[in-house]
Order: sequence, then structure tokens, then C-alpha cells
Amino acid sequence: MPRRVYLDNNATTPVLPEVVDAMRPYFSERFGNASSIHSHGQQTRAAVERARESVAALLGARASEIVFTSGGTEADNLAIFGSLQAEESRAQKTRTQKSHIITSTIEHHAVLNAARHLESSGCELTCVPVDARGLVDPSDVRRALRPNTKLISIMLANNETGVIQPVRKIAAIAAEVGVHFHTDAVQAAGKIPLSVADIGCDLLTISSHKLHGPQGVGALYVKKGTPIDAMIHGGRHERSRRAGTENVPGIVGLGRAAELAQASMEDRDIDKVAEDIAALRDHLESKLLQLDSSAVNGAGAPRVPNTTNICFDGIDGEALVIALDLKGLAVSTGAACSSGAIEPSHVLIAMGLSADRARSSIRFSLGKLNTADDVDFALSIVPETVTRLRELSPVWKAAVSY
Ligand code: PLP
Repeated sequence: MPRRVYLDNNATTPVLPEVVDAMRPYFSERFGNASSIHSHGQQTRAAVERARESVAALLGARASEIVFTSGGTEADNLAIFGSLQAEESRAQKTRTQKSHIITSTIEHHAVLNAARHLESSGCELTCVPVDARGLVDPSDVRRALRPNTKLISIMLANNETGVIQPVRKIAAIAAEVGVHFHTDAVQAAGKIPLSVADIGCDLLTISSHKLHGPQGVGALYVKKGTPIDAMIHGGRHERSRRAGTENVPGIVGLGRAAELAQASMEDRDIDKVAEDIAALRDHLESKLLQLDSSAVNGAGAPRVPNTTNICFDGIDGEALVIALDLKGLAVSTGAACSSGAIEPSHVLIAMGLSADRARSSIRFSLGKLNTADDVDFALSIVPETVTRLRELSPVWKAAVSY
């Protein structure tokens, strides 16, 4: 079997064997509906509530503040639509103005397109910019505030560059003016320690499949007292915040993945794991930067330890991803959902890259199962593939002949 190395952990992570073991009984003998009052139901209800405790512990939250969803996208949508709708219905009698939301130009589409949808139905929207390192300036958020601002949503770590945003400062600004603050922590959970109290957020999104849990399940932290309206109507599941029979195996898997991430933090292993991943990432990055005309997108900003996004001038990122895949290496041009789309990454464009340079950029995202051998494998094929693609590129040849 030809060797395959997976360096696309920001797209999704492999489910850990311990997680699969925890989930397995909920596909077979423990099949009860968690809303049933008989013992089958009680068994699955107990499992769902244990998972809720585990997710809450990972975030430093109360179990009652965790709402299970079908993933990060739904949790982001619930945060945005649900909190805005709750705010508007509370203010309905006195409402004279439209609501205003602040987000950033580099959010995942789960936030950006939810906010744009609200804009198309009459809401006011401000997308604050980022600097060349991909960082939001909290003073831009402060300047964007309006009397009718109802929600600020700024991500914790960017999925394409790994850049960590100054969310504590932004949360403090939001708290000062009494506006709710949501952060999409999908790419931070399991990679760096998280505490909702430390951040000071009212709403926080995580997604199971980014932390070695199954796909199709996530959670929204809703700080006690934060008004939120359900977006999916039906039964009174999830304390009437998200209707629908629970995805019990998925929730159990998320809970176990959260426990494993939490346990490694308690063992103080997380720093070691993060350091090891950062060391692998830094080694990969420094070797790749030895190639002519290559640069790290997000260099100089704080980043999660596993991600590097590198621009190789003169190559087409999609062509490089395909060529590397044929040689056994899985990487990405950025957000998985926009791969295959012709538009260059909105994140890199927002950081000031030209469309050509954005299209020449590749994301390498490591995970805790990656080894030094994996990085060596990547280093044995990426430079030669970049060089070969450049040799085939008339644009590159014309540029270097000057
Ligand atoms: N937010 C960020 C930052 C992400 O990276 C992703 C997925 O790539 C999501 C939200 C969406 O999460 P999910 O895939 O669970 O819907």
C-alpha cells in the first residue's frame, strides 16, 4: 500500500479509537430514545447528560449552558439567529430601529453567511477588517458599535491561517456596552486550553469532528441568562433551545473526545502535545520557507500550534493539492467547504493578498496523531512538486526570467 499522510486536520480529524469504543453501544444495545421514560430511555438520557458534563468541563462551563447541535455550522447559526431573534422579541414593543451585528471579514462561512442572510432581511451588518497578519483590531470593533448593536461575533482561531484573535479584549468591549459576544471556537477547542469565563463570552461554538470526535455533532455554549430563541422548532429537547431527538452516539462521541482533550490538559500533557505539534509545524514551515518566493500567511500573529498556511508564488494551489494527493499527501487550499470553488480565499484576500497569491496558498494542518516521519514525508515531496509545477507555469517562468 502506498504511504498516505494526512495533514488536513483543520478540515476534519480522525476519530480516536477510544471515542469509537464509547460510541459503539449506542448503535446497538443502547438504542433508547433519550426522551423515553422507560429504562432504555433513561440509559441514553444518562449518557447524553454525562457527555454534556464533559463538554462543559472542557469549556469551564455549567452543563446546563451546553446545547448540542448537528455541528459547528448549526451552533454558529443558532448563536447568530437565535440571540438576535430573542433580543428583537424582547425589544419588540419599543423597537424603532433595525438591529446591528458586528463580525469580521475572516469568519468561517457558517458565521459570515448567516450574518449576510440577516443583512439581506434588513439587519445592519459591519464586517471589521483584519491587518496583514490576519488580526482583528479590538478598537475597530469598538468604533463599529452603534446604539442598535445587538451581537458581536468574532472567531477565536481562524480555520485557514490558525491566527488567534484577541477575543478577551473584544469580549470586554462587548460587556462594557452590554452587547452579547459570540466566538466561533471550532478551530481552537482541543488545540489550546479554553475557558468561557476567561474569554468572557456569552456564546461559544465547538464542533466534535475538529477534536477527534465524530462528524455531524457540535455544541453551543450559552451563558446562563443569555436570551436565545430556538431555530429548530418541535419538542422541548435541549431545554427548548434545539428541538429534535438527540444524536446519542454522536453526542457520546463528542463527550468522550472532550474528556480526552480535557484529560490531557489536566495531565499538563496539553502543553507537551501542543509543543510537539508546534515543533513539527515549525520544522515543516522553516524547511518549506527555504523554497524561493514562499511566505507564511499569518506570520507574526499568535497562531494555534498545528496550522501553517504558506504561499508558494507562481503555483496554482488546487493543482498543488491534487499533485500532492497523487503522491500520498493530503493538504488543503483552505476552508474545505470552499475547495473546488474558483474564488480565492476570502480570508487571504481580507489580509491583503492579491487573488493570485491567495490562489497560490496551501494550508498544512497537523493533528495529534502526526509524527516527525509524516513531516519528513511531506518535506520529501512538497519542494520538488512546487518546483515542478513552477517549471510548467509560463507566468512563473516569465516572472523569474526578469
Ligand atoms: N467554524 C469554523 C471556524 C470551522 O473551521 C468550521 C468547519 O470547518 C465550522 C465552523 C463548521 O463546523 P461543522 O463542520 O461542524 O459544521
